This record gives sequence, C-alpha cells and structure tokens, in this order.
Amino acid sequence: MYDLHVHVIGHDRRIKDYSRNIDAYVLQAEFLGLEALGFVDHYPYRMKNVQKVVEKIDYYRNHAAIPILYGAEIYVPSNTRIPKYFDFSLAHTRRGYNLEEAFKMAQQKSIDIIAHPCAYGARCSNSRIEQFKDSGIALELSEKGLLYFPQWLHEKALELDIPLTLGSDAHNPEDLGFPGILERGLTWTPLAKVPFVEEGGWL
Ligand SMILES: [Zn+2]
Ligand SMILES: [Zn+2]
Repeated sequence: MYDLHVHVIGHDRRIKDYSRNIDAYVLQAEFLGLEALGFVDHYPYRMKNVQKVVEKIDYYRNHAAIPILYGAEIYVPSNTRIPKYFDFSLAHTRRGYNLEEAFKMAQQKSIDIIAHPCAYGARCSNSRIEQFKDSGIALELSEKGLLYFPQWLHEKALELDIPLTLGSDAHNPEDLGFPGILERGLTWTPLAKVPFVEEGGWL
C-alpha cells in the first residue's frame, strides 16, 4: 500500500512549524509498511513558512527508506498555475460539479488524480467517464471520503482500466492507514502502474 494524499498542514492552529509533522509521518509510514508517501499541500498555499516544509520534504526524498513525493491539491475549477516543482497534483472538485466536469478540468490542468470523487458536494450522477479512460487521470480511493465513493464507480473504473490510487487525506500522522478501504474489499492500482509514477520514473 502507498499513500498519495497526506496533508502537511493539520487543523491544529497552535502548531507554528508544520515541517515537524513530516518527521512523524515518515516514521509512521515506515511503521505501517507503506511503499511510498505523497505529501500534498493545498495550492495556493495557506501557510507562510513554506520554505521549511519544502526543505524537510527534500531531506526525506534523499534519506527516507521509501519514495517521498510532494504534490499540490488544487480546487477545480481554478485559474491557478501549478508550479513545476510539484511532483504530482490532485484535483479537489468544488461543490456542484460532476465527475465528467472534474475529469475535463483535470485534463485541462494536467492534473494526475481526482481526489475523493463524489465527496464534499461534488456529484457523480450523469457522468459519462468512458471518454477519459485513456487520459491517464486516476480516481482516488479516499479513506477519509470513502463514505461517498459509490461501488458502481469502483466497478466502472476497473472495467475501463481507469487507475485507482490510494489516499488517506490524513491531516495528522495518526490518521495514516486504510482500514475502511480494506474492509470494503476495494482494490487499487499498484504504484508502479500509476501513470504519473510510471512517467516520472519515481520508483
Ligand atoms: Zn480535498
Ligand atoms: Zn486533501
């Protein structure tokens, strides 16, 4: 298992230096036996001391036992340009948009993964997703948003060969892991077969 959706910034406003979270995440990921860890930040950033976070992630890129990636979670639709230093990107679909629209917006922005599909006000009904089967865009199996993920979408993704990636959407190191996804018996795409991982030579 791997996790491509881990937030550096939690919801505890007392924390001034979020880069410390990164140490705990890496330890916890190694403890859980994860194959890779993808940190993400909402972009545009909501924090001031980005530099420390970026430096710490860079440190672990070179020193952790597993591949460490750094991605951006972008609200779509959006006018934001995604900086090149991010290794990958996730689309957080705004309330009211459906999955077909989410795929189109992700395609326009070269986004790699649609985060937590059908959750938090995004819709999945009336979405013709067959047209995106060769787009290389993955759908996320979100531990946090699992409740919203319909079974038919899992089956449809498997049928169309749309990649399914794992993401906890953790905001705390203790939130790592996928108990709900395992319990539901959902299957995911092996890391080496995730299109952006393959293309980027991340393994
Ligand atoms: Zn999100
Ligand atoms: Zn998120």
